[in-house]
Order: sequence, then structure tokens, then C-alpha cells
Amino acid sequence: MSPLHRQLFVFDFDWSLADQDTDRYVFEVLAPDLRRHMKTAKLDTQWTDLVAQSLQKIHARGITKEQIETALVNMPFHPAMIRGVSKLKAEGKTTFVCLSNANSVFINTILKSKGLDNLFDQIITNPADWDDAGLLKLRRRVDPNGPQHSCKVGCSPNMCKGEELEAILAQHGPFDRVVYTGDGSNDFCPILHIVCCRSYRGLQTRIAEEGEKEGLKAQIRYWAGAWEAEEIYNTLSI
Ligand SMILES: [Mg+2]
Ligand SMILES: [Zn+2]
Repeated sequence: MSPLHRQLFVFDFDWSLADQDTDRYVFEVLAPDLRRHMKTAKLDTQWTDLVAQSLQKIHARGITKEQIETALVNMPFHPAMIRGVSKLKAEGKTTFVCLSNANSVFINTILKSKGLDNLFDQIITNPADWDDAGLLKLRRRVDPNGPQHSCKVGCSPNMCKGEELEAILAQHGPFDRVVYTGDGSNDFCPILHIVCCRSYRGLQTRIAEEGEKEGLKAQIRYWAGAWEAEEIYNTLSI
């Protein structure tokens, strides 16, 4: 057996690297009535568009950039996850990529607050930026007015994580091992290799219901708490 030299770690963000969902948590803290509204509105509005509209609404109510940043940095983030990824990062043989349906501002604000601003070699997500008035302007990664992705397994129009992962492999690869950590049903498309699937959520359900039919060949390792994800990562030193 030849030793492994390089591996790629791909992370979903919400409920995977972070121990909560940014898009929902911000509104749970700052505007719970909008959080309630999003539950039904998501049935007929694309999720990224709905978050963008909800950010405009809280801005109109006078909620500030500082309030949103405070909510984000206080969002649950497990210390075991920080330990697990920091150890592999320090060993220097792992490339880290974030593949998330959240947005660049939410992710970067949280990573900075955890001292993880240098963890990722690349963050692929929906673009967002603050305007001068303190409104967070959010757009889909795949522009609704341009060419759309061609995913056939049900990714949201804003991004196909499977196509993004193929592009990452083409750009940064080849790797001796690819490890994907995710939890949500939208993490089903990209899982091809070793998958660290969070238990009891949408990804586990789709693996059970569609994995065989879609020819899923990945090794699946299940975790519930971040301390269990850390145990898995500790076995993946190369
Ligand atoms: Mg997630
Ligand atoms: Zn897809």
C-alpha cells in the first residue's frame, strides 16, 4: 500500500462545519416572525431569493449590520469541530474547500470569529456584500438570468454542489482521498468519495432512499455530534 500524500476535505457549512443553520438562525434571533414566514414562503420562492428578501425586510426595520454580525458570531459552533479541522490543517496535506448554500458574508464572519479565516483554500457559495447603508445584498451563485446548471438529481437553482465538486477536483486535483462532510438533502448530489454524513437529517434520508438507485459508491461514515466528527477526522491524518 502506497502512503497517501494529498487529500481534499469538502465541507458543507450549515449543520456541518457549524452547529446551526445561518440563514435560519439570523432570523430566529432578530426577527422570529420572518423566520416563521420563511417556513411557508419557501414552498414557492427559491431559498436564496427568500433569504435576500428577508434581509431587505430586517434592514427596513432598522436592524443593523452589527446586530447581524453579533447573531452570527454567537451562533453555535462546536469546539470539537474547530479542533478536528485545525489538526488536519496544521498537518499540511489537506486542501479544504467550503461548498455552501449560505453566503460569503455569513461564512466569513463566523470563520473569522473562530480563528478559522485561513482554513479554506476556497469558499464556494452565494455572493453577498454589505452596502453603505448596512444592507446585506445577497445573490444566487448561479445568476437566474444566465445559463442554469444541468443537475438532474434535484439541486436548487442557485447551485449544483455536484458540478461544483467536479470543478474543484479538476482545478485542485488529483487527490489520494476526498472526504465530504454534509448533512442536508442538497449534499446528496456531490457525495462520491468518503462521506461524513450527519445523522437524522435530510442527507441520511436521501442516502437510504436513493443511494442504491443512483449508484452511490462512497464510503459513508455517520456522526451526530461534532465530537464524533472529530473522532472520524482523527483517523484521516495522512
Ligand atoms: Mg447543511
Ligand atoms: Zn446537483
